[in-house]
Amino acid sequence: MSDYLKTEITYLEGVGPKRALMLEKEIGIANFYDLLYYFPYKYVDRTKFYTISELETSLPYVQVKGEIEGFYFEGGGRNKRLAANFTDETGSLKLIWFKGIKWITNRYKPGIKYILFGKPALFNGLINIIHPELEEEGGSERKITAGLQAHYSTTEKLKDSFITSRTIGKMVSNVFTRLPGTIQETLPSWMISKYNLKELHDALLTIHFPDSNRELERAIYRLKFEELFIIQLSLLRYKATRNLYLKGHIFSVVGDKFNTFYRKCLPFELTEAQKRVIREIRRDLGSGRQMNRLLQGDVGSGKTMVALMSMLLAADNGFQSCLMAPTEILASQHYATIREFTEETGTVVRLLTGSTKKKERNEIATLLADGTIEILIGTHALIEETVIFKRLGLAVIDEQHRFGVAQRATLWNKENSPPHVLVMTATPIPRTLAMTLYGDLDVSVIDELPPGRKSIKTLHFTDSERLRVFGFMKKQIGAGRQVYIVYPLIRESEKMDYKNLEEGVEAITRAFPPPLYSISVVHGQMSSAEKESSMRLFKKGIAKILIATTVIEVGVDIRNATVMMIESAERFGLSQLHQLRGRVGRGADQSYCILMSADKLSNEARKRIDIMVATGDGFEIAEADLQLRGPGDLEGTQQSGTGFDLRIANLGRDGQLLEYVRRVAEEITDRDPDLQKPENSILRKLLAKDKISEVDWGRIS
Ligand code: ADP
Ligand code: MG
Repeated sequence: MSDYLKTEITYLEGVGPKRALMLEKEIGIANFYDLLYYFPYKYVDRTKFYTISELETSLPYVQVKGEIEGFYFEGGGRNKRLAANFTDETGSLKLIWFKGIKWITNRYKPGIKYILFGKPALFNGLINIIHPELEEEGGSERKITAGLQAHYSTTEKLKDSFITSRTIGKMVSNVFTRLPGTIQETLPSWMISKYNLKELHDALLTIHFPDSNRELERAIYRLKFEELFIIQLSLLRYKATRNLYLKGHIFSVVGDKFNTFYRKCLPFELTEAQKRVIREIRRDLGSGRQMNRLLQGDVGSGKTMVALMSMLLAADNGFQSCLMAPTEILASQHYATIREFTEETGTVVRLLTGSTKKKERNEIATLLADGTIEILIGTHALIEETVIFKRLGLAVIDEQHRFGVAQRATLWNKENSPPHVLVMTATPIPRTLAMTLYGDLDVSVIDELPPGRKSIKTLHFTDSERLRVFGFMKKQIGAGRQVYIVYPLIRESEKMDYKNLEEGVEAITRAFPPPLYSISVVHGQMSSAEKESSMRLFKKGIAKILIATTVIEVGVDIRNATVMMIESAERFGLSQLHQLRGRVGRGADQSYCILMSADKLSNEARKRIDIMVATGDGFEIAEADLQLRGPGDLEGTQQSGTGFDLRIANLGRDGQLLEYVRRVAEEITDRDPDLQKPENSILRKLLAKDKISEVDWGRIS
């Protein structure tokens, strides 16, 4: 960034200290650079003019040429407002101002030709425009507003100090006017020509003041390209550097524990996909490099088994391992399953969560430090400073943590030598997000479900059909099966009338009266002991119905449950629905997912429900999810969650571009791994400013 762009915004014409403070606080603009990278959110075509007779309230912003006939006041007291008639040859409309009255009357005069810009509205049968923009026809400001006009988002506070979208446009224009020379290019010139990109200066100028749609598109493309490219390049460089600096523990033997487990304890044949993935992991573990692998697989595809076998391999080689789950329920469940599965192998497995008692915690600490514990299962509690392993060889992170690169890098820095890392996630995480969040990882995919799984029947009912649904559930319970009922909320909120859990419990208890039916409840606000005991009742088959919030979304595994009824299903996103549905269909019996919704649905909600009814395939759902999703609306995974601050690209919409720039970045790092070639030096400088390159290798290795 040249020095000029570092100039504080307070020094820009018409800003000053007070406005500068406001700009920084409200929209994060501290200097000229920030301002140039504060991009418009929409554009309005200012090449088109309307006549007053053509105006309708259905039109968006319009431009009209005409004259002001004279100002007058309307209303009184706090309702007092300034009005004016504005006319052209075809008719007249009314302009209204609530604020800045003195300034307006001084500035605009009757009898002068103005270009008016605003949104037509209707009041008392008359077209009016509130707080219009006016500029003299042929005036000097015209050059800013020719062609497509940029609109910037502002806040109420900014508007109150008269910083409007238009003010911001003028500020940007001022920065350009006084710019010494051109803005320094950030990409190598060979890239600019090879990928046919606009130069940075031109792209920035165009994105604020476009002359045509075509040029605007090219400007946006250039800026998105750079933004995504830099992320991918830094991820790849990060991966390369890691491979260079970090030695991995070598797990060379397949020993007793693994073999005993495989021969005696495994109650089923592994799927081909599971076998392939275990081979991939074993190759990593024997390579001498630190493994950093993402394991993707649909709900129920058997990822836990793969993790367990990898952990046994670690134990066979004298290393400890840990498995970190997102919730206590899930951690306890993993613990129970793994204990059961590994009983005959004599592996020492323990559980550590936030609610582990002090005494037990101390005991675990001792057994970890002397190396007795071979597998430690738990929640976030595992990564606390006080948890110290003797020889941690493998760390497995299960589902939903959404740990970005930076977090992962610092996770294990207390170890002398970093463990191998396996991150497991269910597939309906959009590919683009995975490429950004986990872009430095090698990827393994389990693309096959264990045999004999009956596909789950998904049905949609509305509230008026509730009795029928209850009847069906009673039949299932009568046949010995169990039922989940999931609610989106715990307590009724004022704004939403979605079925909530507390009311739900009452209604369900009325429809399924005890002692004939026994009901268990779990939600996020219960203590873990309470959750635990509710889950136990359901797991043992004593409770027939489990009423829950989405705390059971991930991982819960109860084979006898055959019905998943989701209340207010329209309230859930696709990947959540898919996760929830994955809780049933785990045993031999036909399972059902029942989506309950209001009678009236928005288009979007209807589409989501239709997709759920139509397909059970996680990949298809992830794809549909991506297409349905609006800008900046990544379900459950805000863009900021990735650890990268995206100003212009959108992970939901720019998937293709992302994959393209990933390949571009790969080509570059393949040919010039350390970016030593002179033509790439500019890239090396760019990356030096990047946050993940700042990882302190000395500390980690
Ligand atoms: P995920 O974590 O991928 O959603 P899990 O590892 O919880 O899936 O496995 C789901 C269920 O399938 C578990 O009950 C598990 O024991 C079982 N399972 C795993 N692999 C197989 C297999 N190859 N054949 C049959 N059942 C399997
Ligand atoms: Mg799982």
